Amino acid sequence: MALIVHKYGGTSMGSTERIKNVARRVAKWHDAGYQVIVVPSAMSGETNRLIGMAKEISPQPDPRELDMLASTGEQVSVALLAMALHSVGKEAVSYAGWQVAIKTDSAFTKARIQSIDDTKVKADLDAGRVVIITGFQGVDDGGNIATLGRGGSDTSAVAIAVAMKAQECLIYTDVDGVYTTDPRVVSDARRLNTVTFEEMLEMASLGSKVLQIRSVEFAGNYRMPTRVLSSLTDPMIPLEVEVNSGTLISFEEDTHMEQAAITGIAFNRDEAKITVLGVPDKPGIAYQILGPVADANIEVDMIIQNQSVDGKTDFTFTVPRGDYAKAMDTLELHVKSHIGGSITGDAKVSKVSVVGVGMRSHVGIASQMFRTLSEEGINILMISTSEIKISVLIDEKYMELAVRALHKAFGLENA
Ligand code: ADP
Ligand code: ASP
Ligand code: MG
Repeated sequence: MALIVHKYGGTSMGSTERIKNVARRVAKWHDAGYQVIVVPSAMSGETNRLIGMAKEISPQPDPRELDMLASTGEQVSVALLAMALHSVGKEAVSYAGWQVAIKTDSAFTKARIQSIDDTKVKADLDAGRVVIITGFQGVDDGGNIATLGRGGSDTSAVAIAVAMKAQECLIYTDVDGVYTTDPRVVSDARRLNTVTFEEMLEMASLGSKVLQIRSVEFAGNYRMPTRVLSSLTDPMIPLEVEVNSGTLISFEEDTHMEQAAITGIAFNRDEAKITVLGVPDKPGIAYQILGPVADANIEVDMIIQNQSVDGKTDFTFTVPRGDYAKAMDTLELHVKSHIGGSITGDAKVSKVSVVGVGMRSHVGIASQMFRTLSEEGINILMISTSEIKISVLIDEKYMELAVRALHKAFGLENA
């Protein structure tokens, strides 16, 4: 019997009424002969509420305890969904990650899944039960609950689909697929029927929060067919319609000669830029600046080192805005005592990226992007490129303008 994994996000689980709809949809799939595993997120707003309470108690809560707290939102969801399934006549059983067990490392608040035991889940499925497993969490070797980072239920769902050898992983959310850009920012953004795995990986890593990046990595590494679709349609829509709806992540190489140059536009509002001015231009300087930042567990993204003048240069890089204060503190101490030079920073910058495998066979994408931004009077602070994306760092106040202008300039609204 074919096994399918459904993941429902916060909005999809946002009220008891919505949970009843999820139960109806799941029951429909089960009635059609599928074995079903459901991976829900916490009800919308709940994880923020929990983390907010922790921050009221302590500005930097202990990460183990933070995970103990944040993971409870999903436990509420699985139990309510099991009850809703019972009410529509289905046998269903819910498990927290540690009960399965989903084993993770001990990197609290950003743990990685290491293994998933299929024994208990398989037995339940074979006994005809719908199995509901908390998203976002697992357990480390020491028996501590660890969460997978914000948006981590996507990763739980795809990893469970891989471990259980499911036919497909369906990510139900509050939009009906992956769009050319966030439809909340560009109202005429267009839904993509398919998006290549590479493009989805870039979009997710460049800020499109529709899928957590690690879920895309799992899907790609194990070639798990993964589809993003709406949970807000009538739960009883015919299965034949539902199976082809939304956006499928495809693993085919870009074989279409006529492919558009650009597939989508991603953005990340929450960036920060740090410049170390007047550092000596000598071997080891990048390491001396970035080493302490890495040691503080801060991810560095874009990097530029200027031409040196009189043996001195400026070195600029970006970090997530949430890590800006920590990165500045780390560097203040270090630069003063070890390197020399001074530090400036700007925590009000955003990154906008155009993404598309079609870029490989089209020239002039960068110049079109830069022309569009220049016509809007938007200054580019930094640039980075890869084979299938171009990213620019700009002042945050121009971010939405840039996204809309680029969406139009690349004709993304047209089917
Ligand atoms: P869930 O709670 O279901 O996990 P998320 O809020 O994490 O939902 O992800 C869905 C949201 O992602 C959408 O509501 C949309 O605003 C946002 N989003 C960002 N970029 C895109 C995109 N390219 N296509 C679709 N949605 C996007
Ligand atoms: N509830 C978690 C969060 O809000 C995980 C998820 O929704 O995927 O980040
Ligand atoms: Mg999400």
